[in-house]
Amino acid sequence: MTVRVRLAPSPTGTLHIGTARTAVFNWLFARHQNGKFLLRIEDTDKERSKPEFTQNILDGLRWLGLDWDEEPVIQSERIEAHKQAISQLLAQGLAYRCYASEQELDAMREAQKASGRPPRYDNRHRHLSGEEEEAYRAEGREAVIRFRIDDEATIVWTDLVRGPMQWRGADLGGDMVIARRAPANTVGDPLYNLVVVVDDAAMAISHVIRGEDHISNTAKQLLLYEALGLNCPSFAHTPLILNPEGRKLSKRDGVTSISDFRAMGYTAEALANYMTLLGWSVPEGTEERFTLREAAEVFSFDRVNKAGAKFDWDKLNWLNSQVLHGWSPAELLSAVEPLWQKQGWIVNDPLWANDLAVLLGPSLTLIEDGVTQAKPFFEEPPLEEDGLKQLDQAGARPALQALLSALELNAWDGLDVERAQTLLKDAAASAEVKKGVLMKSLRAALLGRLQGPDLITTWALLARLGHDRQRLRRCL
Ligand code: GLU
Repeated sequence: MTVRVRLAPSPTGTLHIGTARTAVFNWLFARHQNGKFLLRIEDTDKERSKPEFTQNILDGLRWLGLDWDEEPVIQSERIEAHKQAISQLLAQGLAYRCYASEQELDAMREAQKASGRPPRYDNRHRHLSGEEEEAYRAEGREAVIRFRIDDEATIVWTDLVRGPMQWRGADLGGDMVIARRAPANTVGDPLYNLVVVVDDAAMAISHVIRGEDHISNTAKQLLLYEALGLNCPSFAHTPLILNPEGRKLSKRDGVTSISDFRAMGYTAEALANYMTLLGWSVPEGTEERFTLREAAEVFSFDRVNKAGAKFDWDKLNWLNSQVLHGWSPAELLSAVEPLWQKQGWIVNDPLWANDLAVLLGPSLTLIEDGVTQAKPFFEEPPLEEDGLKQLDQAGARPALQALLSALELNAWDGLDVERAQTLLKDAAASAEVKKGVLMKSLRAALLGRLQGPDLITTWALLARLGHDRQRLRRCL
C-alpha cells in the first residue's frame, strides 16, 4: 500500500501552531514510509476563507521545510463531487430532507436542557411522508439534508495513537446535517464531515492524521464511508497542545501563529524540532535536537503520547539557541544584517561584521537578540544605573583617563589581546587601582552597563570604528 497522508487546513486564519504540528506528524510519517504528503485547502467557508491566509499557510509550511507532493487540492473546486455523494445518499434513503426551522430546533434543545438531557436532534423528520414534505414546501420552508445515524450502531476503529476506539451511534447527536438549507429539490452547500470523506477517498488517503478534537467527527465519518461504499483510511489522533496552565492553547495565550514565531526570531529548524517534541518522544538513546529528516528516519506512532502536550517556552528557547549557536558567522549575518539595515545601521567593513557575529553568536537565543545585542556597536548606549555606579568607584575615572591618554598618544591599526592587556595593566598601575576595577569601569564606559560580551573583543571592535575614545571621553 502506498502511504498517502494530507494536511487539510482551512484558510480562515494564519498557519496556527496546532495545524503546523499536525503537518509535522503527517510529513514525518509520509517521509518515514516513503509515501506522499498532500495538501487540501478547505476553503468552503466562503465568508471566512481568504487567499492571503492560504498564502500564509503555504509560506509557513515551506519555511518550516514541510515540502508537499502534488498540487494542493482546492476543496471549493470539488463541490460537484460532494453534491453527487449527497444525491447518492438521498437516492439510497440514507439521507433525507429536514424542514425543521431554527426556532423549532431551538425550542427542542431548550426542552431537552430543561429536562436534563443532552442536546441532540430528535430525528423528527426522518420519516416524513410525501404529503408532509409537500406541505412544508408549500409553506416556503427550505430543508437541510441529514444523514441517518442509527442510535444502535457501534462504531469501532483502532487508532494508531489511542488504540481501540468505540463510539455509540446514540452519542453522535442524532441525524447529522450534511448540506445546508436550500430551496426545494436542490442540494445546499455540503458540510465538513461529508466533504472530508468524499475528498479523502478521492485523494486515496491511506492515513488521516489530525488533532484529537476530531475524534467524534471520525466516528461520523466512518459511518459515511460505509454508506458511500468507500474504503476507510486508518486514523491517528494526535494530542492537543496545551498552554503552560494545562488548558487548550488558544489565541489568548499570545503567539500561536507560525508567522509570529518567525517574526519573534525563532528559526524554522528549532520550531520544527520543538513541534515534533510536542507529543512525540524520541527513541531511547536519541538526541532531542534533530532535523526533520533525522526525525523522519525513526518516526512512529507508538511514540506519540496520548496526553496533551504542554507548551514549554524554555525548551523552545533552548532549542533555538542551540540552532543559532551552530550557525556560521555568515549564516548569522544573512539573518541579522537585513534587520540591522532596518535600524539604519550600515556596515562598511565585512570583516568587522564577521567579527561581531563571532562575538555575539554564542549568546543568542532569538535572531532578534542579534539586533538588541548589536545595538551598542552601532549606537552610543546610555549610561545605566549600574554603569554610573561603577564609574563613581574610587579610582575608576583616573584609570580611564590614563587609558584614554595612552590611546591618544598612539594610533594603532588594531587592538590585539596582548596590547589591550598591556594598556589595561599600565593604566591601572598609573592610577593605582586594581586591574579588575578598571576593566569593569571600561565595560561601563563602552557599553553603559556591566553586562555584555567579552570585554577585550568588544573594545577591539569599537576601537576599529574609533568609538572607544569617544565613549571614554564622555565618562570623564
Ligand atoms: N479543515 C479541518 C481543520 O482544519 C480539517 C480537519 C481534518 O483533518 O479532517 O480542522
